[in-house]
Amino acid sequence: MKHEFARKRRGAFAGADSPQAGVWDYSVPGREGVSLPRADVPAYELPSGIPQRKDLPLPEISELDAVRHFTWLSRLNYSIDTHFYPLGSCTMKYNPRISEKTAALPGFSLAHPLLPESLCQGSLGIMEGLQNFLAEIGGFRSVSLQPAAGAHGELCGVMMIRAYHQKRGQAGRVRMLIPDSAHGTNPASVAMCGFQAVQVPSDARGNVDMRVLKSLCDDTLAGLMLTNPNTLGLFEERLDEAIDAVHRAGGLVYGDGANLNALLGIFRPGDAGIDVMHFNLHKTFGTPHGGGGPGAGPVGAGEKLASFLPGPLVLREGEAFRLAMPENSIGRVKAFYGNFAVLVKAYTFIAMLGAEGLRAVAENAVLNANYLKKLIEGGYAIPYNRPCMHEFVASGHLNDQVHALDVAKRLIDYGWHPPTVYFPLIVKEALMIEPTESESRETLEAFAAALLAVAREAGQEADIVKTAPHGTPVGRLDEVAAARNPVLKSGKK
Ligand SMILES: *Cc1c(COP(=O)(O)O)cnc(C)c1O
Repeated sequence: MKHEFARKRRGAFAGADSPQAGVWDYSVPGREGVSLPRADVPAYELPSGIPQRKDLPLPEISELDAVRHFTWLSRLNYSIDTHFYPLGSCTMKYNPRISEKTAALPGFSLAHPLLPESLCQGSLGIMEGLQNFLAEIGGFRSVSLQPAAGAHGELCGVMMIRAYHQKRGQAGRVRMLIPDSAHGTNPASVAMCGFQAVQVPSDARGNVDMRVLKSLCDDTLAGLMLTNPNTLGLFEERLDEAIDAVHRAGGLVYGDGANLNALLGIFRPGDAGIDVMHFNLHKTFGTPHGGGGPGAGPVGAGEKLASFLPGPLVLREGEAFRLAMPENSIGRVKAFYGNFAVLVKAYTFIAMLGAEGLRAVAENAVLNANYLKKLIEGGYAIPYNRPCMHEFVASGHLNDQVHALDVAKRLIDYGWHPPTVYFPLIVKEALMIEPTESESRETLEAFAAALLAVAREAGQEADIVKTAPHGTPVGRLDEVAAARNPVLKSGKK
C-alpha cells in the first residue's frame, strides 16, 4: 500500500514492476543526465601499460530521473523530521533549525583548523563558553570537548581513570564494575583499556544490587561505570551509597551521561560525586545524529581527574582565548578541535534555552515518558514499574507467538518508527521507549493507540503481526548477514 504511493510519486518510474527497481531498470542507451563542460586543456593520451577500463557500465538516465530516483530512496528513510522516533536511549529530539544557521555562519564554517589562535578567537570563544556551560550543567570542574561521540568519551574517561591509578602507583587496580543494565559500549571501553569488566546484577527494583556491589569493592577496584538514570529509565535510588562504597575502596566513578536529558537543571552528577562523565551533545543538546550527522561526546571531570582530561582545552585570559593541555592529560584523542560544528550547534541549543529552558526540557521529557507509559500499561507489561525518568521499558512478549520484534515491525505498518528492542538485556523482549520533550500530547496519544492496536491484534490475529511489515520494500532482514556481507550497489553488474 505504501509502496504504491511511493511508486506514484516516482512519476516516470511508475511502471517499474518492483518497488525495489534500481536506476538500471529505467536506463535507455544514449540518454544522458550530465553535460560536462568542454575541455579547456589539450587531450592527453595515457601511456600504454596503465590499466584502463574500456567501458564504464553506468545507467543512462536523464537528470530528472536521477533526481526522482534518489528523492524516492530518501523517502523510504525515517527521520526525526518526518516521524516520531521513540528509539529508547537515543534521545531523538527535535533538531532546532537555528542551530543549523549558527553552525553555517561563515566565520565558523569556513574557519581553517590550522588558523593561528589569534585569527580564530570567535571559534575558541564559543568552545570556551560551551566548556563552561557543560561544567555548570554537570557539576564538573573542567570539560574537554575533544571526544567525537559518547563511546569515545567513555574510552577517554576510562583512560583517565587508568592514568590516575598508575600515577599513584596503583596499577593493580584493573577491575571495573558495570551493572548488567549498562549499554554495550561500557564493557567495550573498559576492555579497550585493558581493564577487566565485572558485571553487577540489578535488584528487584531495577537498581544496581548494592550487596553485590559492596562485596566487589576491594583493592583491585579501578572503579564503577554507572548510567543514571539507568537504561530502564529509572533513577538509581541508592546512588550516594554506591558512589561512597567505590570511593572508600579507592576506586573512581564513571558516569555514563547518555541519559542526562532527564536531569537537566535538576540534578548535577558532579555534585553527587561522579568523577568523570561524558555528555552526548547529539542526544541531550539536540544536534542531528544517527543518519543525520556526527555527534560529539565531551567529557567532564571533577577535582581528582580534571588534570587528566584529553586536550587541548580552551582557556580564557582576560579577553583572549588560548589552547592548553591539562597537566596530566591523556593527550589528544581527535584531530584539531573535535567535531566543531556540533559544538556550535550544542552551544546554540543551550544559549537559546537558558537555565530555565533546560530545566523545562528535563521536566517535559519525564512528563512525556510517564504519560506514554500510563497510556500503554493496559496492553503491555512494564517489568520494573515505578515512576520513570525520560524513558521506560515495556515487555514486547504479548503471548507465546508474538515477540518484541513482531510488535516493532507491525508499528511500521501503522506509520511509526519502532522503539529500541531487546535492550536493556535484563528485560526479556524489551521495548525501550523514549518520547523526548519535543513531542506533543496528540502524537503520544496516537502512538499509544497504535501500540494498543498491535497488542489487540496479537491476541486476535497474530499472523498479521508476525508477518509485518506489509507495506515496505523489504520486511525482515537478516541483519547479521547484511552486516557481514554488505551489498552496497544496486543494478545489473
Ligand atoms: C547512546 C549511548 C551511549 C553511546 O553514545 P554514542 O554517542 O552513541 O557513542 C552510551 N551509553 C548509553 C546509555 C547510550 O544510550
